[in-house]
Amino acid sequence: MKLPVLTIVVPSYNEEEVLVETTQQLTNVLSSLIGEKLASPESKILFVDDGSKDQTWTLIEELTEKNKFVTGLKLSRNFGHQKALLAGMETAGKLSDCVISIDADLQDDISVIRDFMIKYNEGFDIVYGVRNSRDTDTLFKRVTAQGFYRLMDKMGVNTVYNHADYRLLSKRALEELSRFKERNLFLRGIVPLIGLKTTKVYYNRKERFAGVSKYPLKKMLSFAFDGITSFSVVPIRFITVIGILSFFLSSFAGVYALVVKLFGHTESGWTSIMISIWFIGGLLLISVGLIGEYIGKIYEETKSRPRYSIETDLYSAPKNNTKKTPYYIGRS
Ligand code: UDP
Ligand code: MG
Repeated sequence: MKLPVLTIVVPSYNEEEVLVETTQQLTNVLSSLIGEKLASPESKILFVDDGSKDQTWTLIEELTEKNKFVTGLKLSRNFGHQKALLAGMETAGKLSDCVISIDADLQDDISVIRDFMIKYNEGFDIVYGVRNSRDTDTLFKRVTAQGFYRLMDKMGVNTVYNHADYRLLSKRALEELSRFKERNLFLRGIVPLIGLKTTKVYYNRKERFAGVSKYPLKKMLSFAFDGITSFSVVPIRFITVIGILSFFLSSFAGVYALVVKLFGHTESGWTSIMISIWFIGGLLLISVGLIGEYIGKIYEETKSRPRYSIETDLYSAPKNNTKKTPYYIGRS
């Protein structure tokens, strides 16, 4: 049996403090996988330099010279974690049977890589690394992250709870992934849309062993906003709902204004202004919401996501089609 070629993709942004240690640990993992015949000796560690401003790239080049497993990819500027990941995975996908993505700070337990490969060898296309607990996170990170998952869920975006971007994708899953053409990349939402044979493995997340988080609050918020707006038109629908509500309210306000007028407690002109403000207000909000709905549709279309993915096609590739020449050919 041919051993699967694995590429571990590591997005790295200003990670000079951790790269050497990370390389060392990943090299150990790869060597033992190869020893155990779980991965091919051609397996690699691919560092993706996401436009770092420090010595990250020079370091990657040096490591490439010294370590036969290490290779690198440099992006032209800082594209952000998600795009760096995609760049790495798409590049790796060309020559590998499967890729595993992991953060450079090795907060995710690398001993699970072995479990990933076992699952892959069992025939799974997607394996999610899922965290058991968030004990090692700061309270702030824990609360914001959990709130984020809940919000996403409410908005109808399917994500795997407590799974970050630590996962294995087979070549086939990668091919499907590359058919999602959207610019606003939110991998945690997209990968579950691929389908195929999927499973999870569990681990405990550690603290960063060096350096500081490259995800300050600003990046986290924009990540969350991207996640929601690129998966859901719920915020737009919200406008329509408010419009309809205020339209209903306008009839109450109208009745109220008329009653007040009948009892003669008003200035002249007040009633008509009251009624029109509420009525027009409601109408305007409904209209904006309605236009929003159409923009939402256009937005869905312009993403030109694949409309379906085929897992097995018995029509074009029948199960028993061994492409043998029928036995009677050549017989007399
Ligand atoms: N990262 C990246 N580009 C960015 C920000 C982060 O490639 O613009 C990488 C970073 O080098 C790390 C991973 O994304 O490998 C996750 O970042 P970090 O560990 O700082 O995030 P946290 O664990 O705090 O969420
Ligand atoms: Mg981290």
